[in-house]
Amino acid sequence: MNNEQIKIPQATAKRLPLYYRFIQNLHSSGKQRVSSAELSEAVKVDSATIRRDFSYFGALGKKGYGYNVQYLLTFFRKTLDQDELTYVTLIGVGNLGTAFLHYNFMKNNNTKIVMAFDVDESKIGSEIGGVPVYHLDDIEEQMPENVTVAILTVPAPVAQPIADRLVEKGVKGILNFTPARINVPEEIRIHHIDLAVELQSLVYFLKHYPSE
Ligand code: ATP
Repeated sequence: MNNEQIKIPQATAKRLPLYYRFIQNLHSSGKQRVSSAELSEAVKVDSATIRRDFSYFGALGKKGYGYNVQYLLTFFRKTLDQDELTYVTLIGVGNLGTAFLHYNFMKNNNTKIVMAFDVDESKIGSEIGGVPVYHLDDIEEQMPENVTVAILTVPAPVAQPIADRLVEKGVKGILNFTPARINVPEEIRIHHIDLAVELQSLVYFLKHYPSE
């Protein structure tokens, strides 16, 4: 993310892709303005938070008018669409990993999974979703330096040693889909997504906070 000109809080930065996707849809449907209430309804973020987020990048909505869709679109494009592609590797071509290889991240982001690694001989040497699968032993040799992000979809017990190797190889960000809590040096960014926990949490909220 290009935050050179504008320093925005991390929590705001995390919501930008969400806003961006919605604004893109609005723009393609020919809408010229949007109110924070409409945005709030669509992206499920309260409108006070939206107004505060937008104020960080100078989008000051006018009362009774809302926000200019073109302005927002230009801002998001500049901020989120890096000029060059971000190259991503995926480690662990199991059920989840395979789904990601088939999923076209390029549609909405400038990110591309360029190679995958596994230890299962039946997968090595194959191409899944157009992405070649190599043996994990070849990571040091095969992975080019421009691969800066890794998706981890391996069994939890092997997540930490693999993360260590990725960091050693120069990876700057890891999206960890394993339930393992991985330790990385301070300068490496790691995001944890535990789908089982997310699902459990959704069920919990449905049960304890049912909407009227
Ligand atoms: P599958 O049905 O293919 O086993 P899964 O998602 O249920 O998928 P997992 O046991 O979670 O299976 O393993 C995910 C993937 O990680 C598998 O393809 C497995 O071969 C791979 N894997 C296991 N250990 C390692 C390792 N040390 N390094 C890289 N990949 C590994």
